[in-house]
Amino acid sequence: MDGEPARAAQESGAPSGATLDKRDVLSGLRCHQKLWFEFHEAYAPELVPDAEAEMRFAEGHLVGARARLAMGDGVHLAPGREVAQIEVVKRTAEAMERGERLLFEPGFTAAGASVRADIMARDGDAWVMTEVKSSKWPEKDRDREKKVALHLTDIAVQRWVAGEAKVPIARANLMYLNPECRHPDLSNLFTSVDVTARTAPVVLALPAAVRTMHAMLRDAEPPKVSVGDQCTDPDECPFHARCHDTLPDHHVSELYYAKKQARTLAAEGKTMISDLSASDAPNAPAKRQVRAVTTGTRIVEPGLANALTAIARPIAYLDFETVQLAVPRWPGCGPQAMVTVQFSVHREGFADDTTRQYLARRGSDPRPQLITELIDACAGAACVVVYYEAFEKARIRELADWFPEHASALMDISDRIVDLLPIVRDHVYDPEFHGSFSLKKVLPALVDLDYSDLVIQDGGAATAGIYRLLFDQGLDADAQAALRTDLLAYCHRDTEAMVKLVAKLKELM
Ligand code: SF4
Repeated sequence: MDGEPARAAQESGAPSGATLDKRDVLSGLRCHQKLWFEFHEAYAPELVPDAEAEMRFAEGHLVGARARLAMGDGVHLAPGREVAQIEVVKRTAEAMERGERLLFEPGFTAAGASVRADIMARDGDAWVMTEVKSSKWPEKDRDREKKVALHLTDIAVQRWVAGEAKVPIARANLMYLNPECRHPDLSNLFTSVDVTARTAPVVLALPAAVRTMHAMLRDAEPPKVSVGDQCTDPDECPFHARCHDTLPDHHVSELYYAKKQARTLAAEGKTMISDLSASDAPNAPAKRQVRAVTTGTRIVEPGLANALTAIARPIAYLDFETVQLAVPRWPGCGPQAMVTVQFSVHREGFADDTTRQYLARRGSDPRPQLITELIDACAGAACVVVYYEAFEKARIRELADWFPEHASALMDISDRIVDLLPIVRDHVYDPEFHGSFSLKKVLPALVDLDYSDLVIQDGGAATAGIYRLLFDQGLDADAQAALRTDLLAYCHRDTEAMVKLVAKLKELM
């Protein structure tokens, strides 16, 4: 299942003196240095799961439980996280010996590696192995290849170790959340794809790769690995800051929207943005960035005044927060739907300039009340200002699809949206943006306001906080109240930030 926590090393007879689990092998295939850090510094602060990771674990466990339910009666060999691998391996062998036909979380240890499969079903004298993912099977054909490629090695490692443990695997499947499933009917929550043939070449390469990892782990010092695509693909490596923080401010890697070009420029010896000329930059904001950094000044384009005319009073400054649930909880929602459960609206230029906020409460579907209050909060606004309209427009479209009786009023809000982000991106660059136009970077550079005084300081922490607020049964009333206050403060700051930003942009005209 997605999102297993970091583990401590286990002793074995393997060359490094330990057994590598699936997560280790995947890390080693991505970057030896990452594996070395995870193995020798298992308690490094970077490996402590944050609130977002905890949220993913919780949803991953729900998906696992649903998958077992969907498969039928089987033997669960490792219920809970605490069962030791040696015990799971023993239970697996005994269950196979007894002739059990369906195993949940069977374990194998062989060739210096240990794995736990999600599901194995007997097929004649062999087994069908299934890896359950908490992510959604792509609706578009063109995205499916990429999705399978991302997860192929997961199941290949398990297939290899099972094979080394003399357990024949006839087929290997990846099981995803079905994009067509809609709450409340979860009978079609999963869809599977057979990847047997595609795992074969990966399996062939694993013995040598894992031997090399064991040898590398014997070294007392981490291997030297250059930073590269592996640091952010398929996700940000937990050691990203450790490996990258030696880069100075205005390093060429900060060049806006120009990852590949930045690597080429660095290879040519142009390591700092101040080494560049405008022709080195691949897009207009990056050219502006080069000008700003080389001159050490904030650049403001003359078109800013005209761009700001799109923001007509009275204004509703709008920001949404969402929760994303692998297993849908509310009617009409599919797996991993991003559901709007919080908003803040700052009203400016009205007879009553107030702030309106809504934050879901646990227990019932929050969307009907949110929609009513949102329509009311935006009523009478000539324009609705957001920062990055694609997000808010998509969420409004979804709310309209779920509640067609409010579609007209919701789409009227969407039609009035003015996006502040391109106004900034296309007209202003301050060296303190450091190649990013996110509100978190733009705000402290232009306005005397940031998020450092808040308990919740970014969108990911807000999403995880909302998840806890709505679904964590261990949260007592006081903790819920405190979390609620923190979440309201965060969303409020997002809209307050836009109010101040627009005022500042008008000063800069
Ligand atoms: S940040 Fe990059 S180089 Fe450093 S450990 Fe992670 S993947 Fe390896």
